[in-house]
Amino acid sequence: MQFFSTRGGEGVSPAEAVLMGIAPNGGLFIPEAFPKFSLESIDALKELDYPTLSAKIIASFLTDFDYEDILAVTKEGYAAFTHKDVAPLVDLGDGLHCLELFHGPTLAFKDIALCVLPGLMRLSMEKLGQDKTVLILVATSGDTGKAALSGFTDKPGTAICVYYPKDGVSYAQKRQMTTQKGDNVQAIGVDGDFDACQRGVKRIMGDAAMAKAVAEKGYAFSSANSINFGRLVPQVAYYFASYADLLRRGEIALGEKIDFIVPTGNFGNILAGWYAKQMGLPVGKLYCASNVNNVLSKFFSDGIYRGKGELKKTTSPSMDILVSSNLERLLYHCTEDAELVKGYMQELALGNDYNVGSELLKRFKDDFMADWADDAAAAKAIGSVYAEKGYLLDTHSAVGKAVYDTMAHESAHAVLVCTASPFKFSGDVMRAIGKEVAKEEDAAYELADATGLVLPLPLVEALTAEPRLLNTCAVAGMDDALLSWLDSRS
Ligand SMILES: *Cc1c(COP(=O)(O)O)cnc(C)c1O
Repeated sequence: MQFFSTRGGEGVSPAEAVLMGIAPNGGLFIPEAFPKFSLESIDALKELDYPTLSAKIIASFLTDFDYEDILAVTKEGYAAFTHKDVAPLVDLGDGLHCLELFHGPTLAFKDIALCVLPGLMRLSMEKLGQDKTVLILVATSGDTGKAALSGFTDKPGTAICVYYPKDGVSYAQKRQMTTQKGDNVQAIGVDGDFDACQRGVKRIMGDAAMAKAVAEKGYAFSSANSINFGRLVPQVAYYFASYADLLRRGEIALGEKIDFIVPTGNFGNILAGWYAKQMGLPVGKLYCASNVNNVLSKFFSDGIYRGKGELKKTTSPSMDILVSSNLERLLYHCTEDAELVKGYMQELALGNDYNVGSELLKRFKDDFMADWADDAAAAKAIGSVYAEKGYLLDTHSAVGKAVYDTMAHESAHAVLVCTASPFKFSGDVMRAIGKEVAKEEDAAYELADATGLVLPLPLVEALTAEPRLLNTCAVAGMDDALLSWLDSRS
């Protein structure tokens, strides 16, 4: 299988796509074709455990890797999860099922990909004979940062620098990042929002002078953001896994379509669901749920992607995003026109709108439904699900539930993709279930007390460890902050 940039040019091997992270021309790598899974082969997935199922999906894209090598990576990666099923499906009744993707080391769905990406990168380095230290740059709205730090910490041949909006992440998220241990990790609080961090990382990685400066120090850039194909492909697996679960439980018949509701920010999670559909998984609709930063729901309603807008802070900070990078992949797959995609992205970079027109919009509407919910609606969803079912949603998953509740339901069964543990956003979750928070720093303990649920161990660790990564910088200082950290390491 070859991989091509969404902005045109020569194809590269799967190992090159994983290691480069982003194409030299600024585009995102996409596979030349979708591997196909027949209904029979989907039925057979029922028999597999999660690491094996995941290895099968990953191997179907990364065709120059050895299946056994991939399996070793997924087994090791998912051994860090605290639930034996890795991604358990919880029945909420009335055909709604919660896919819990937060049993990894950082309690958010990013772990699903970031527990295996370091292993996939190591295999890629071996294949390509790469001898430089891979320098991972990450822009995070909160959850990716910790998941990437945790995934890469002390992994030989790698170093990782995470940029996060210094005032745009939750208390627990900041604690998780600043307390990260390891010799090859750095986290920097940027005086700007997530989009500024993401733009900065993209710019640094595309800057020839910076590439030369880090190469002289023995490093080569890569990305662990969801623009890296190695991030996207492990996420495809849980769509198949939840379908296989419903088959195994006899809830659905083979071939019956199910819907997925996805709390969306950078469009990586939901795009993985769309990939699963292209591969033959019987998916009805993908519900794209946004918070008040609702550029995507506007886009799916009128085909216009707005280039201007002010980012608003919400109780679902991991979805506080205005430029959803992975949408570029969908645009390419549906048009196969690199020049067109390049033009749209250039408009966006200039702060202008782009309009995909009614034909393409119609095509998107076959697969996607989109809407948004504000903080109050999300809080209401948390409160009512807890009161009625005794199940605690986090603030992101709650946006999905709130959106789903207001929309027509296409299929008899729907899977709500639950992206974070409620304990990561304890203060807001407490208030949503009608409890007062005495002390914001202690909200996680108070939530455990109020609900009788067990506070997850990784969070206890983050809340009690001493912060050690305390650097901050201005948006314009992101380059220098990186270079001086590299100098301090040598
Ligand atoms: C990252 C994240 C999202 C958004 O996922 P995308 O792939 O960026 O759309 C939603 N919820 C949580 C908790 C996240 O960490």
